[in-house]
Amino acid sequence: MKKKAATTNKGPSVRSCVACGEKSRKETLVRFVLLSGEVAPDWRGTLEGRAVYACPTPDCVRKLYAVKRLPDAFLQGAPRFAVPREEILAWIRDQAIASLTHFLSLARKSGVLTTGQNTIADAMERDGKAPAAVLMTADTADRTVREVTRLLPAGTPILRWGDQASLGAAIGTRPVGVVALAASPITERIRHYGAMINLFSLSQEH
Ligand SMILES: [Zn+2]
Repeated sequence: MKKKAATTNKGPSVRSCVACGEKSRKETLVRFVLLSGEVAPDWRGTLEGRAVYACPTPDCVRKLYAVKRLPDAFLQGAPRFAVPREEILAWIRDQAIASLTHFLSLARKSGVLTTGQNTIADAMERDGKAPAAVLMTADTADRTVREVTRLLPAGTPILRWGDQASLGAAIGTRPVGVVALAASPITERIRHYGAMINLFSLSQEH
């Protein structure tokens, strides 16, 4: 007896990058929609209508801006962009910083994030478990970076971002250079935006 194929898709939504064709989970891609006839980035992925997606890399975003045509079902004719070509990479970097800040604050409020080098050591001693990731600011002293790195099991992701004042401001504390992140979907978002900020900041330098 033949069973009817399941019509509900319980897996994560996957979309193709319009620049390179590679498939990724929707929430890890940059979404673009049509706003008043212009191709506009939809950072939060909340705007209605047809969309195209690009990998969150400067390469694929540059390629999207260079295309002469997009899929006909999305837009017929040559695309016009709401954010000018020369501003889009900085625009994405700034949005990624805003999102990172938002998720750091959320992590702090929900107990996913703890601050300070000693907290990491104490937590590891108490729980016998390493944090899922650690974020250190760019202005953290080299000695501290070495000590924290030595505490952590090999392979623990270490993000570098911002300075102690901006990290403290993001999480509503005094300036802080080291925070530990427990395993959580929030931590995954923080890693995602942290990686994006690095990619898009590097591409601004030349
Ligand atoms: Zn791509």
